[in-house]
Amino acid sequence: MSDLRELYQTTILDHYKKPRNFGPLAAANADATGDNPLCGDHVTVHLFVDGDVVRDVHFEGSGCAISTASASMMTETVKGRTRAEAERLFDRFHRLVAGPSEDLPGPEELGKLAVFSGVREHPARIKCATLAWHALHSALGEARTVSTE
Ligand code: ZN
Repeated sequence: MSDLRELYQTTILDHYKKPRNFGPLAAANADATGDNPLCGDHVTVHLFVDGDVVRDVHFEGSGCAISTASASMMTETVKGRTRAEAERLFDRFHRLVAGPSEDLPGPEELGKLAVFSGVREHPARIKCATLAWHALHSALGEARTVSTE
């Protein structure tokens, strides 16, 4: 557990200082914004969805280390996945940080995202960690609407 805690801090700081896929996305065809007024986090997620595949994901905004790192890692994890895989990851991530402890997804299901299990011990930070994922979920819904027209 202490290894995971150390990894958690290192990983969060790394992504906070050097957020991946940060900035606008010219090809975006779906966007969604999430706000967490309790902490002052603000995240906009841009998606380029091609058919069933999320080809590219970017994010913009500002917030605390956890919200920024979570958004950064979300973009890395979701890029290249199908919509269904992205939604499944959203569900697993949510269970990881906020679900009942007997229903935790295994590390093999989450990969690097497993470091966020530390958030469970700090309920006030759950919204920070899930903000970008909720925005992703909304953007995927928007993309679905667009594609059926
Ligand atoms: Zn926050």
